[in-house]
Amino acid sequence: MAERRKFKKRFCKYCEMKVEFIDYKDLGLLKFSLSERFKIMPRRLTGNCKRHQELVTVSIKRARQTALIPYIVDRKNVVENPFEFVR
Ligand SMILES: [Zn+2]
Repeated sequence: MAERRKFKKRFCKYCEMKVEFIDYKDLGLLKFSLSERFKIMPRRLTGNCKRHQELVTVSIKRARQTALIPYIVDRKNVVENPFEFVR
């Protein structure tokens, strides 16, 4: 019965928005693939396609190197919306 379970088809947000290139400075795009602790969300949770997941992964890593995104978040500093304190 489990395989008969209906599940919603998920679309890649980046395909939906017709994003061709993901800029590492564009945190608005990256945040779809970041958890509240700034970890990269796996594709099975976000529903991103493989191509965009790879783009996003590269951009997030670049954003970390340029200190736009923290590498690790202290447990005490976990907030509901991490993008409030980014800027
Ligand atoms: Zn896509």
